[in-house]
Amino acid sequence: MLNDAVSPSGGLTASFSISAERLRCHRARVLRRADTLASMSDTLFERIINREVPADIVHETETTIAFRDINPRATTHVLVVPKTRYRNVAELAAADPGLLADVVNTAAKVAELEGVAEAGYRLTFNTGEDAGQTVFHVHGHLLGGSSLGPEARPPK
Ligand code: 5GP
Repeated sequence: MLNDAVSPSGGLTASFSISAERLRCHRARVLRRADTLASMSDTLFERIINREVPADIVHETETTIAFRDINPRATTHVLVVPKTRYRNVAELAAADPGLLADVVNTAAKVAELEGVAEAGYRLTFNTGEDAGQTVFHVHGHLLGGSSLGPEARPPK
């Protein structure tokens, strides 16, 4: 509300008084909008899918894309990504099991193309912070090309 008042020196002063409740509602609206904008903004992998960021693409289907990890942790290290975005593999499985099957089939195809299908490979989906997930657009890490050893260390 805009209040007019005569100051002691005789001038007209204006002041805003906004109730704490209105301020709280406004803050909640701003936060909700920021949240919406964040979920609408493209992840790195969407920019790769849209060819806005370059990547070494090794295979692509109508629903998936596979490209080499920029920081390989095995002789073969390819990321397999559904073109539709879900935060993690559990969300993908719940929402679209067929698309999860597409991701696994693409990984199997890439394993063949990379010549690691026979010897064996690992397909992992890091899920959440403790697992080291950094890109929140579900992706499988296809690892192979040498003996990989155990995946996780026992707790200390
Ligand atoms: P996460 O840690 O989420 O399971 O896996 C994300 C992966 O994306 C990491 O292994 C990381 O090396 C890879 N990565 C990060 N930035 C890029 C990039 O710009 N291009 C490619 N090809 N891979 C990336």
